[in-house]
Parts: sequence; structure tokens; C-alpha cells
Amino acid sequence: MLHPQIASVAATKHILKKFNLRASKKLGQNFLIDSEVVRKIVEAAEISHGEEVLEIGPGIGTLTQGLLEAGAKVTAVELDKKLPAVLSETLEGYENFRLIQGDILKVDLSELMTNSFKVVANLPYYITTQILLTLLEKKLPITKIVTMVQKEVAERMTAQPCSKIYGAMSVAVQFRSDAEISFDVEPSAFLPRPEVTSSVVVCNVKESKYNVSDEEFFIKVVRSSFGQRRKTILNSLTGAGFLREKVLQSLENAEINFERRAETLTIEEFIKLAENLH
Ligand code: SAM
Repeated sequence: MLHPQIASVAATKHILKKFNLRASKKLGQNFLIDSEVVRKIVEAAEISHGEEVLEIGPGIGTLTQGLLEAGAKVTAVELDKKLPAVLSETLEGYENFRLIQGDILKVDLSELMTNSFKVVANLPYYITTQILLTLLEKKLPITKIVTMVQKEVAERMTAQPCSKIYGAMSVAVQFRSDAEISFDVEPSAFLPRPEVTSSVVVCNVKESKYNVSDEEFFIKVVRSSFGQRRKTILNSLTGAGFLREKVLQSLENAEINFERRAETLTIEEFIKLAENLH
């Protein structure tokens, strides 16, 4: 290791003190302090030497260090303007590190990441959903996403039809990837401690897992279907502006009973429905 390990309470406190920093709640800053968790995330990412990794929110470089030590070529996007100065010290000497100061939701990822890459991140929880949907909906050459999220979000990402938490997020994630919860992480692994348990989810992205003629339209149908969970799919879709007759006909063609609710539909059924509605 080029530097002492960042993933510890002592090192993290020392770095924050040295740079006169306080973890920002607004930016979702909960820094990892558990080296075992870093090791397990890096292991779950199955990094091979020289592989490109996009890290979202490197913070003070804790997970980044683990990724670099495993041989990854890391591009990290960090919003906090105070952190580049910290990272240039904590990760000094690592050659395969590139930092972009900016908002992950605004940077042009297709310009930034031109080769196939993996995403590894301890995500800021206030924008987890937007980040994941952005990554999955843009046609980026991503092969794997390994993310730390709130346990509740992890459960939604991997939920199956007919469970209460199955929703647009579950469909969006599973439409593009095989997703599973790898392990849970207790609040004590972070400084400051979050109020909730976290989970690391591994999504193996498969470009051709399912095929639809118009992906944007498919996503619109899924979102509209879950718009009002208590309503039937027919009422949700008509409520969202689709013509009742057209919805009825499409449901019939897709062999979906019009009294069903969105949460009972499999991804295959959503695809059939969207293709008929299109
Ligand atoms: N990776 C570090 C770790 O594991 O200790 C920090 C993780 S912390 C949960 C989330 C990080 O995301 C913070 O460093 C925060 O400043 C950064 N962040 C918050 N919003 C962001 C955004 N829109 N774009 C990029 N980074 C963001």
C-alpha cells in the first residue's frame, strides 16, 4: 500500500481534522471506516488489473484506495468542492486515479467513460434512485454496478412481483441486470453513523437481457403503471393519459387481466404490454 489505510476511525478522524472538514449531511456524507467492508465491496466488484471503474462520490478516498490497490483504473466524480485537495493528498502517488469535480447527475458519462467499465460506489443516499436510474437508462458500456445503498432500497431493487415493495425501481434494475444483495452493513461501519442499515447490491448488467422496440416508452409505461399502486393497471394507465380503449385492447393482446395491479406483473408482461401499447 502506498499510504496508510484510510478505512479506519483514527485515519478518517485525522484526515477530517487536518483539513478542517465536517461530514456534510446535505451531501449524504457517511464515510466508510471499516476496512473489512471495503475489502468485501472490492471483492464483490471482481476487479481485474487495469479495469476501468467509475466511482461515484469518493469522499476522502476510502473505497477508492481499495479499488486502486486491487489494480483498477479509477475515475471518480465528487460533488464536494472541498474534497479534491484532500484526495490529492490521501491518494497521492496512485497513477491510475482521475478525479472529476462535479455532479454525477450532470456530467456527460458517455464522454467520460468510453471503454466498458464497472461502477463501484458507496452512494449518497439522498439521490440513490436518480443515480441508479440514470446509470441504467443511459446506454452506457457498464458491465457491473456494485453499490452500497440503504437496505430498504436494496430490497426494492431486488424485489419480485407480488411483493409489496416491487415497483418501478425493481423493474428498471432487473430489466437491465441480474441483481442480488451481496451483504448488509451496519451503521457502525460509517462515520458519522447513518440511521439505517445498508446493503451492498451487485448488478450484473446485461445489455441484451430483454429487448424492447422503444426503451423510453417502456419505462414510461412501467412508471405510469406504478403511478397509483392501489389502482388496477387499467386505471393507472388511463389516469396517466393513455386511452382507455387502447389500454384495454393492449392488455387483452398481452393476456393480462385488466383488473390486475402493476405490482403483480412480471417484466415479461410489462414488455408485452408496452409493445402492444406502442
Ligand atoms: N466513498 C466514500 C466512502 O465510502 O467513505 C464516501 C461515500 S459518501 C456516502 C457519498 C459521497 O458522495 C460523498 O463524498 C458526497 O460528497 C458525494 N456526493 C454527494 N452528492 C453527489 C453528487 N451529486 N455527485 C457526486 N458526488 C456526490
